Amino acid sequence: MPFDPSSISGYFQYLLGFAAAFFAALWLSLIFWTFRDIRTRTRDSFARVLAILLVAVLFLPGIVIYLIIRPGRTIEEEYQRTLEEEALLKSIEEINTCPGCGRHTREDWIVCPTCQTKLKKTCPSCRKLLELPWNICPYCGAPSTDNPSAPPADSDQPLQV
Ligand SMILES: [Zn+2]
Ligand SMILES: [Zn+2]
Repeated sequence: MPFDPSSISGYFQYLLGFAAAFFAALWLSLIFWTFRDIRTRTRDSFARVLAILLVAVLFLPGIVIYLIIRPGRTIEEEYQRTLEEEALLKSIEEINTCPGCGRHTREDWIVCPTCQTKLKKTCPSCRKLLELPWNICPYCGAPSTDNPSAPPADSDQPLQV
């Protein structure tokens, strides 16, 4: 194969053109990726524009900076986490405390051992525990009328410790 300088420079130009096209495509796709990514992470349009500019101007270093400083969670993940926290708080508040004294109680207690507040009543037919306001047993369908409708909560808690 004879040495031909013109074909070498032709190859070189070809490679250069290829590299330029490759980097242009990479640049555009990184901008597009950033655009999609930041859209799921913030509703702040200023932050969105800033992120896209960062990647558009600085290119590869820009994408590194963006990955470091972008919000850690997407809006969706943040929303899910809020829901979980709320549900957790709610279950702690609702299930485990006595309405009379605020102490921890158990799901299957019918009276608070500390302040004697009535917590639950039993079904006259199947003996399962019922919430005080319920007038019918959800397990067997028996009306719980002979367990007279719940007295007002403060009438039967004479002792405050
Ligand atoms: Zn209590
Ligand atoms: Zn029942």
